[in-house]
Amino acid sequence: MNVSAILRQKGRAVTTAHPDTPLVEIANKLAAKRIGAIVIVGAGGEICGIVSERDVIRALATSGASSLKEPVAQTMTRQVVTCLETDTLDELMAMMTARRFRHLPVVTDGALVGIVSIGDVVKHHVAEVEMEATAMRDYITHS
Ligand code: AMP
Repeated sequence: MNVSAILRQKGRAVTTAHPDTPLVEIANKLAAKRIGAIVIVGAGGEICGIVSERDVIRALATSGASSLKEPVAQTMTRQVVTCLETDTLDELMAMMTARRFRHLPVVTDGALVGIVSIGDVVKHHVAEVEMEATAMRDYITHS
């Protein structure tokens, strides 16, 4: 299973925002869409950051409620790690575990084409394990 197969099932929509968006609007969008992260893009659609619910909490804890009025550019992570449609489920799990984050924007030919969360990874991993178990049971009972 690779990223392309995951996107075929979940779709390619990505919630994005501009770097000058106030953090309060980011928090509202995260809550309304029930998602954990938003990709921050520049005027030309290029990825310039990522902000997750953890960043919002951290900004509130360190700077207080006034941080909600500040542009998300002050809070987002600027060095965004992305993945390719050809990356495998195992590679995504390794990346997320090693770097301790739960979201990976997908890039094809320099363009943002999707996002994979740890929830997507776990869901497809469980499905793969179940398929393997079923195949093993069939093999044992029919041999
Ligand atoms: P998360 O686990 O996705 O809520 O994110 C935890 C931290 O990692 C936050 O500071 C995010 O801004 C950051 N982060 C999340 N995804 C990525 C990514 N793909 N590349 C770089 N940083 C990320």
